Amino acid sequence: MKYLPTIGLETHVQLNTRTKIWCGCKVDSSAEPNTHVCPVCMGYPGSLPVLNAEAVRKTVQTGLLLGCKIGLRSKHDRKSYFYPDMPKNYQITQYDEPLCLGGSLDIEVNGVKKTVHINRIHLEEDVGKSTHLRGTSGVDYNRAGTPLMEIVTEADMHSEDEAFAYLTALKRILQYGGVSHCNLEQGNIRCDVNISVAEVGSKTLGTKAEIKNMNTFRGVHRAAAYEIKRQIRAVETGTPLVQETRRWEDDQGMTTSMRSKEDAHDYRYFPDPDLAVITLTEAQVDAWRADLPELPEAKRLRFVEELGLPEYDAGVLVADVEVADYFEAVCASANGNAKSASNWVMTEVMRVLSERGQGASELNVSADALGKLILLVDKKVLNNSKAKEVFAVLLEEGGDPDAIVKDKGWAQVSDSSALESFVNQVIEENPSVVEDYRGGKGAALQFLMGQVMRLSKGKANPKMVLELLKERLA
Ligand SMILES: [Zn+2]
Repeated sequence: MKYLPTIGLETHVQLNTRTKIWCGCKVDSSAEPNTHVCPVCMGYPGSLPVLNAEAVRKTVQTGLLLGCKIGLRSKHDRKSYFYPDMPKNYQITQYDEPLCLGGSLDIEVNGVKKTVHINRIHLEEDVGKSTHLRGTSGVDYNRAGTPLMEIVTEADMHSEDEAFAYLTALKRILQYGGVSHCNLEQGNIRCDVNISVAEVGSKTLGTKAEIKNMNTFRGVHRAAAYEIKRQIRAVETGTPLVQETRRWEDDQGMTTSMRSKEDAHDYRYFPDPDLAVITLTEAQVDAWRADLPELPEAKRLRFVEELGLPEYDAGVLVADVEVADYFEAVCASANGNAKSASNWVMTEVMRVLSERGQGASELNVSADALGKLILLVDKKVLNNSKAKEVFAVLLEEGGDPDAIVKDKGWAQVSDSSALESFVNQVIEENPSVVEDYRGGKGAALQFLMGQVMRLSKGKANPKMVLELLKERLA
């Protein structure tokens, strides 16, 4: 490859605090427009902001999860610009003294591990949302003042695949940390991508373009791939590149120019005189560190070492913290039968979640109920196929597995005299199949087995039926 692309990401993450960053208005993206607003988040003159301590804690905890150095002194600054969704005509952000500095995140692309370095994380406010209706435009200030973390990487990535892997890994950390809802469709995570290309071996970076405000990781991947190609073509044909901001047009699959890039001094940053400097103590930071949740890698190791799960299962389960939590609850309810719990979660549960686009916490089947269902199989009250039917009932109607089994009369038949009479009847009714089996056709046994299961309405203990059949046909 003659050219090396260089990519840096700025990711805006909405924190999942109950209230906004400077006022007591509720954070609620699903509410009717302008129903969670007050003079502070509407930017009325004379209103005074008060910092939400939860937002500081969540930002610092994110910093700790990413190995950042926490600034014991940090402050907020005003970034001046005019835009209808920003009624104060400035955004409160952090300029030269952010909450978190440094840090890193490990990613893996095609089996190759690498580290993406973090430059900083700062805490700012989200702006309102403009909507363009027919013949008019409206602004919804419900979103204005939602606490927003901006996580800035170093220009460490060199392909669209690396950018994608970074975002995926970052989202997992944010979910594990419980700091954001991480709902991409709702715009909880939005990304600016800085890209340039230079000849391999060049000491300087090429002219960079910034692609603004993308809210799907797939979009980032496609946009970066497009932009890399566009810049290489420009370099090769001698077309000058300008430093600019570009927009990703998803339906056309291309980036287009929005404006040439402003330099930082255009924003006229200055310390916000209405907000105090934030001072944290080591003790406070230590307390927040002690309060951090278990991270994916630690959880994966624990699942393998303490619960005895195969590496593969552990990797699948920890990929989503809700799934991992659900699995652990199922396992506890199933008296610690981790392998069965893992099999159920990785097959039936994850299939339903992906079909319905749900998170594990929204599933109709409680972890407690699934654990009880596993116990019924372990105790041989149910065979596997009947257990799946009980699961289907739980999924549609909820309820208790014991009650469903009793109600439907689905308990497995393990009584040998009852099974013997089924077996005898099937052998009597299928003399030619019996002949085939005795003549060496192994598949004939499966057919007879199926007939016995049919006669028992699926309730026969399959292992006992097989033994009985073999015994009788020997
Ligand atoms: Zn407010």
